[in-house]
Amino acid sequence: MAFQNSRASRFRSAAKELLCGHGERPILRTSPTKDNPGRRFWGCVYYEVQDGCDFFRWADLELGGVQEEVEIARNRRKITKLKTRLKEVETKLWLLLLYFMSKAQKH
Ligand SMILES: [Zn+2]
Repeated sequence: MAFQNSRASRFRSAAKELLCGHGERPILRTSPTKDNPGRRFWGCVYYEVQDGCDFFRWADLELGGVQEEVEIARNRRKITKLKTRLKEVETKLWLLLLYFMSKAQKH
């Protein structure tokens, strides 16, 4: 679990350090091209405003990755919890069964 947490925070800090050629934080844009319609990418803040630099990075590659990682970690925690509860219920069921069996034998 600690391993997963450290991995997720490493991804987050990497996204923070994302800077374009101007040293500015890039902004999320939507691709207007036919090849990738509606696809999101990080682009230079000054793109189409003044001289933009060549900064370009698909957003779904890393953002999706981080979200998936978080989701997977959350689901894993859920499964672990459910498994623990299942064991508890199973144990109780067995005890109950043994109790009734011992009672049935006495009568
Ligand atoms: Zn720039």
